[in-house]
Amino acid sequence: MNNLDKVKERIEKLCAELNRHNHLYYILDSPEVSDAEYDELIRELRLLEEKHPQFSTPDSPTQRVGATPVEGFSVVEHPYPLLSLANAFSQDELSAWYNRVSRLVGGQKFTMACEHKIDGLAVALTYFNGQLATGATRGDGFCGENIIQNLRTIRSIPLSVPKEAPSCFEVRGEVFLPKTGFHKLNEERAAEGLPLFANPRNAAAGSVRQFNPSITAKRPLDIYIYGLGWSEDETLPKTHWETMSYLKSLGFKINPENTLAKSIEEAEDFYRTWAERRASLPYEADGIVIKVDLLAFQERLGAAGHEPRWAIAYKFPAVQATTRLREIRVSVGRTGTINPYAVLEPVAVGGVTIRQATLHNEDNVRRKDIREGDWVYIQRAGGVIPEIIGPIKSRRTGEEKEFNLLEKLFDKDKRHPACPACGAEIFRPEAEVMYYCSNASCPAQVKGLIEHFASRSAMDIRGIGESQSTLLLKERLVKDAADLYYLTKEQLIQLERMGEKSAGNIIKAIERSRNRPLARVIYALGVRHIGEEMARTLAEHFNSLDEMANATKEKLMSIPSIGPKITESVTTFFRQEENRHILEKLRRAGIKLEKKEMQAEALPLAGQEFIITGRLKAFSREEGEAKIRTLGGTTKDNITRQTTYLVVGEEPGAKLTRAQTLGIKQLSETEFLRLLEDKTQ
Ligand code: NAD
Repeated sequence: MNNLDKVKERIEKLCAELNRHNHLYYILDSPEVSDAEYDELIRELRLLEEKHPQFSTPDSPTQRVGATPVEGFSVVEHPYPLLSLANAFSQDELSAWYNRVSRLVGGQKFTMACEHKIDGLAVALTYFNGQLATGATRGDGFCGENIIQNLRTIRSIPLSVPKEAPSCFEVRGEVFLPKTGFHKLNEERAAEGLPLFANPRNAAAGSVRQFNPSITAKRPLDIYIYGLGWSEDETLPKTHWETMSYLKSLGFKINPENTLAKSIEEAEDFYRTWAERRASLPYEADGIVIKVDLLAFQERLGAAGHEPRWAIAYKFPAVQATTRLREIRVSVGRTGTINPYAVLEPVAVGGVTIRQATLHNEDNVRRKDIREGDWVYIQRAGGVIPEIIGPIKSRRTGEEKEFNLLEKLFDKDKRHPACPACGAEIFRPEAEVMYYCSNASCPAQVKGLIEHFASRSAMDIRGIGESQSTLLLKERLVKDAADLYYLTKEQLIQLERMGEKSAGNIIKAIERSRNRPLARVIYALGVRHIGEEMARTLAEHFNSLDEMANATKEKLMSIPSIGPKITESVTTFFRQEENRHILEKLRRAGIKLEKKEMQAEALPLAGQEFIITGRLKAFSREEGEAKIRTLGGTTKDNITRQTTYLVVGEEPGAKLTRAQTLGIKQLSETEFLRLLEDKTQ
């Protein structure tokens, strides 16, 4: 076979494979590969077709939008096709788009609307004489499925519009399922043994393309309108931005996060902000859409194939992937929990290689019917440990093995299930989903506890992580977390791969941690069910760790937000001799176990000046300023060289430019919240 034959064969193979994925995705709402993997295949095909146009066919997946409507729904023809969007996966690709647009508009400056690219499904809604008349999917761009009965059940779609609206027009928007609705739906499906939806997009599409509208009505679907398709009215606004405001005035739901960018740098800022904050959004967004604002320019730019030239989807790094689950193993957590986790065939997700994913507990594995050998969808959200969304059942070969936790845990002599770390017996408390190791000095638990104690949100001892905790225990330099305070630099240097500098840094970090606020110390102890929030609540109600350790059940129960579970956990913890002993060792080491009464100048933000610009999401600007002042910082209205930080909320004002000119440090809202949290007792 010569080279050209090989190219032709590869193109045919890619077309067949992509067509199969399109069918699974658009028709069955049940993809077998992640979007990033799909995008990789289509990119390869596009490159090959560009290099060898003689092999490109008009029905190639690169030339088409979506898929033809399925039988069963009536068909709606779109008078103006619903196109797809060109993608940019890097800043270079975005710049290339921007430069091309600039060239095509004759070098004139232009503003751009920036919107979230919500991962849902495109719909076109037409209104005749004030009433919703048709509601259709995009389908293949020219013809969609008529799903009006289902769309009528979505409360945010107006069934009628005010009389000043054009007599005949079409709006376009994205129907989506908020993340909470998606998780709930998948929980219900798992309980019923139904296949899980891979992501909110597939769930939304599956929900609106139902033959029975009462099923759609039960799903908490929502919509954001992002465009006017066409209208009979000739006197409409001249820009996309004004069109959106106009549609809002007619009662359509427009995403309040939309913004206008005067330059490509401003559009990139919008991208960066949301790439960082996407996990906090109530819906899944896989990028931002940047649109040339002036409609006259949009018209001049037109479309190239099935993608308008005047818009681009700038995609966020991928968070989902598919891979094979090689094996399910079991580890022991710091509270003694026996945790199943997945060992995966390594896969890159958004630039990070994932090898393991949490499976939480046996019930979760059973409910989702995850088996060893399965192909699975995995998801990585921010810094959180990756998790498995569910198996891809259509890829099963019959070789997959169901998981049974107890079978995995039988000791060597097959007498009883045992802790995989220390061999002690395990137990499962009534009404709990987790099994526990019964040995309080199980090395895996102690290691987990030391790691937790030293973690950033607890005592923040940089340099003590998983491998150092293991080594310290192995070398018998520590028996519990409190022993960290008795380590010497000389002892640390003896550890494998530990240089003098690192040892010195660890000793300094240990020193610094002596003054951590009470809430952090409480959290660091690793009492079961006491997370960061609960530790703060406890620190607010007790003046010292001793007072808390000696508190009666009645006293604990009298604290709002503390119930019997926490009360039991706290009293059990402090009843145990070993834990009292740890407390004593901490005290002897000079760790602050009381709440600090701070003088104003000793407050954590003393001497620092803050200015807030733009809207904050977590609270109002006044509340933000009050929080700064409580921690000893000052707040001002105008930027000077004395300003320490400019906190940048949404739609920041001119202060941002001034701060940039003066070189004042800026904090995004997330960074600001983290700073407040770090400094709060
Ligand atoms: P797209 O999803 O990349 O972009 C176009 C769509 O974006 C529009 O139709 C609209 O629905 C949506 N959108 C969201 N917010 C918008 C906004 N503010 N303004 C305008 N549009 C907005 O393109 P596509 O053609 O719908 O789908 C292609 C993508 O689908 C691929 O890149 C791939 O990621 C995914 N896909 C995956 C598989 C798979 O098997 N995993 C198969 C086929 C397609």
